Amino acid sequence: MSFRDLSLSPAVLAALPSQYHAPTPIQQQAIPAMLRGQDVLALAQTGSGKTLAFGLGLLQQLALSSEDAISLAKLTAVVIVPTRELAAQINDVLAPLSKALNIAQAMVCGGIGLNEQVAMLEQAPPRLLIATPGRLLDLITQRLISVNQVKHLVLDEADRLLEMGFWPDLQRIVQAMPAQQQRLLFSATLAGELAEKVSLLMPNAQRIEVGEQN
Ligand code: ADP
Ligand code: MG
Repeated sequence: MSFRDLSLSPAVLAALPSQYHAPTPIQQQAIPAMLRGQDVLALAQTGSGKTLAFGLGLLQQLALSSEDAISLAKLTAVVIVPTRELAAQINDVLAPLSKALNIAQAMVCGGIGLNEQVAMLEQAPPRLLIATPGRLLDLITQRLISVNQVKHLVLDEADRLLEMGFWPDLQRIVQAMPAQQQRLLFSATLAGELAEKVSLLMPNAQRIEVGEQN
């Protein structure tokens, strides 16, 4: 299979760095489900290529809505990860693609001055935001960012988000977002408590699982 078989537009295919020759199994399965508009629960081990799975699915949908002048100004997609390091990693992987597609992308996380981040958000309002839960919730509760138009929400490393005690923050973040939104959850594992939370958060999600043999 090639990336061309995944219903990605020519612009997105052209933006893809040439080091990626073919989609990994999780990318093969998650991208088409995302592009059908479904909620997706994607389980795959570390190193299986989850970043580009949700990254391409999001960027394709954002690139399509770029033709609509109003949606250009709005925060449309949010990726939440448990740590600053992961946020920086994802930001680095997706930045060249976003740049090529003219999609404003930004990252917010703890450890960077709040005022500095607010100034950055004002200067270049993002359509795609990568965030850690605590800082994002701070920005929402202080009304420094608006998430009421967010159409796509990704929770990456959801097992770690839960283990690290972020679920109450996540619930408050989700409550500030539209009820009608596409929810995507990526995780290496789905233990009992997470499975329960997921069934409440996205009861109709399509479950995609990629095992070690892939
Ligand atoms: P995960 O989030 O599942 O742990 P990552 O998205 O961080 O995995 O990807 C792991 C590694 O695989 C990265 O170095 C990334 O560049 C590489 N990778 C991802 N997708 C592909 C692909 N389609 N072809 C080749 N390498 C890829
Ligand atoms: Mg990852």
